[in-house]
Amino acid sequence: METPSYNPYQVAQSQFDKVAAILELDDGVKELLRQPMREYHFTIPVRMDDGKIKIFKGFRVQHNDARGPAKGGIRFHPMETIDTVRALSMWMTWKCSVVDIPLGGAKGGVICDPHHLSLKEQEQICRGWVRQIARNVGPFSDVPAPDVMTNGQHMLWILDEFEAIHGGRYPGFITGKPVGMGGSQGRTEATGFGVIFVLREALKEMGIAPEKTTASVQGFGNVAQYAIRMYTQLGGKVIAISCWDQADKKAYTYCKKNGVNVEELLGISDKFGGIDKNRARELGYEMLPGEKWLEQEVDILIPAALENQINNSNVQNIAKSIKVIVEGANGPTTPEADEVIKQRNIMLLPDFLTNAGGVTCSYFEQVQCNMNYFWEKNEVLEKLDVKMTSAFKAVSELARQKKLYMRDAAYVIAINRVAQAVTLRGWA
Ligand code: NAD
Repeated sequence: METPSYNPYQVAQSQFDKVAAILELDDGVKELLRQPMREYHFTIPVRMDDGKIKIFKGFRVQHNDARGPAKGGIRFHPMETIDTVRALSMWMTWKCSVVDIPLGGAKGGVICDPHHLSLKEQEQICRGWVRQIARNVGPFSDVPAPDVMTNGQHMLWILDEFEAIHGGRYPGFITGKPVGMGGSQGRTEATGFGVIFVLREALKEMGIAPEKTTASVQGFGNVAQYAIRMYTQLGGKVIAISCWDQADKKAYTYCKKNGVNVEELLGISDKFGGIDKNRARELGYEMLPGEKWLEQEVDILIPAALENQINNSNVQNIAKSIKVIVEGANGPTTPEADEVIKQRNIMLLPDFLTNAGGVTCSYFEQVQCNMNYFWEKNEVLEKLDVKMTSAFKAVSELARQKKLYMRDAAYVIAINRVAQAVTLRGWA
């Protein structure tokens, strides 16, 4: 599917402005929160395998750290832009706030395509990234994590370089580390499972039994895979999955009316969440164009791939049967599409609440690193469920009381907490 050219930073600011007006925020607080506090742009020189030096562009944006150290992932993406990173850093602030963990918001990125880089080149990018910014990040100021196209190995290279620069062991500097190297059990599952913990609570309030529902999912990466697993565990049936095909440079929707089998699909998918078309066909999957995931006659849509995927050009195509949209990806719905969804009375569970499971587990990772005592997986996932459930209940209750759209209610809670923190600190 072609991604329309929305500017995610403008989307994030327009969402913020709307809620600042509802909250009647003081002008100074509003001005402070509608933009990042700090931005770092830098170059990363890398000696490529062919012996030539190539310069990559890196970013780190710290949106706000009034409630605790800034927190957010590092993305590797060939189309990365500073405005995407700005928007994502702002969403991180609201995300940490809405689940009430003592962290602020940040995001980082490098313009690069790991599909075309050797591991040695990727290691140099990671080490180069932290060398440029080692004095402005750390366990008590800004804590990175993996994001799109980065993983635990990238994080360990970054941690190792940071520790070499600062001369000590600082496991709390990075989250998303491999288990056994300071990582938390349950982190891999956390975001996808968290999405479904929130969906489960919403269905409960709506009086809908999960085992009587069907869903269509966009994406088959980390978030989507675990969301599908947990949703299936609750008895739900996923009948369509849309994902990107690297060879054809377009997306396809893989359909199976009697329910997809996630384990079967994992056996024929690559590490970037692409599914082998030919083998899927052999396994009885019907292949449709990428955007068809949105048009399936199901109860639930789970956009869990990229930003701006439900927009003005396709929101009208959402099937009449849809009762709930649970956003796994960051910013998958544009403000115009949001209005249409609101008018259609579809229950929308907003991204920064539903996909906060990852950062909540990252917070648990920091806590465990600081104690140097690690919990069993069940303990982590139980604590995650408690956090996600109570965050959902607070948002849902406010939405009911004030007759707000769920996204607005979540923003009101999140922004209000950050506004209180900057006011109490005397910043505005
Ligand atoms: P990923 O890279 O593991 O997977 C992305 C998936 O999206 C892949 O299956 C890919 O094929 C698919 N995709 C890409 N372009 C597509 C298109 N045009 N149409 C259909 N499918 C397409 O990424 P992820 O970690 O699963 O993250 C997905 C989203 O969730 C991102 O927006 C990310 O920022 C957000 N998120 C991730 C986490 C996390 O813990 N991984 C946490 C919070 C938010």
